[in-house]
Amino acid sequence: MTNTHFGFQSVEEQEKAGRVKGVFDSVAPKYDLMNDLMSAGMHRAWKAYTVMVANVKPGQRVLDIAGGTGDLALAFASKVGVAGTVVHTDINEAMLREGRNRLLDRGVSLPTVVCDGERLPFADGYFDLVTVAFGLRNMTHKDNALLEMNRVLKPGGKLLVLEFSKIAKPLEKVYDWYSFKVLPRLGKWVANDDSSYQYLAESIRMHPGQQELKTMMHKGGFGHVDYHNMSGGVVALHVGIKC
Ligand code: SAM
Repeated sequence: MTNTHFGFQSVEEQEKAGRVKGVFDSVAPKYDLMNDLMSAGMHRAWKAYTVMVANVKPGQRVLDIAGGTGDLALAFASKVGVAGTVVHTDINEAMLREGRNRLLDRGVSLPTVVCDGERLPFADGYFDLVTVAFGLRNMTHKDNALLEMNRVLKPGGKLLVLEFSKIAKPLEKVYDWYSFKVLPRLGKWVANDDSSYQYLAESIRMHPGQQELKTMMHKGGFGHVDYHNMSGGVVALHVGIKC
């Protein structure tokens, strides 16, 4: 029996995906509103930067893993045009349904697939770009997930991992206060759910920092890996190129 972490708790590996599912089943209806409130809208800028770095061209094939309510998938859909493909995926049906409905309201219909980022149902070397925004942190076997992301990319293809990371030292105290005192209260007030936002704060602390994730991506088969800190390291965008 192997244990892993679910926030600060130690749980059996096979238990983690179910616990993560509980979090996103609970937050799905209020996910977008909470994202705007808790980041003061900054998640939009982090995602816009990700889309800029992706530099997607018309006709390309893009896979968005853990795509949730579809911010990235929506942005990429207009870039690849009618000749390209964006596949919007998530392990959680409730999140994916929110995303699909949101995209349909904007007149965008994409292939939508419920799937686990650790076991992708796609052929080797199919995609030009794979993205995962704020999803890798929740996966049980991050190393397997990175290998899978590498497998489905074409040689020369790009992986973008947008994720919470290690904040700069001088900002730590105020960030801890915000994460553990304000965030769960905001979650309770807006979504009637403090524990999911307590999990968010804890899971960020348990996630590999910038250098560690860079090393993991190298081990996952990415020849060139770089990262860009944003908002003082609150989040980092890791860019990996498949050799
Ligand atoms: N990418 C979206 C965004 O940036 O707004 C959603 C991010 S949300 C914080 C994290 C998402 O990861 C959830 O929708 C959750 O269901 C998904 N997720 C968690 N574990 C996953 C897994 N093993 N495979 C695929 N998606 C997963």
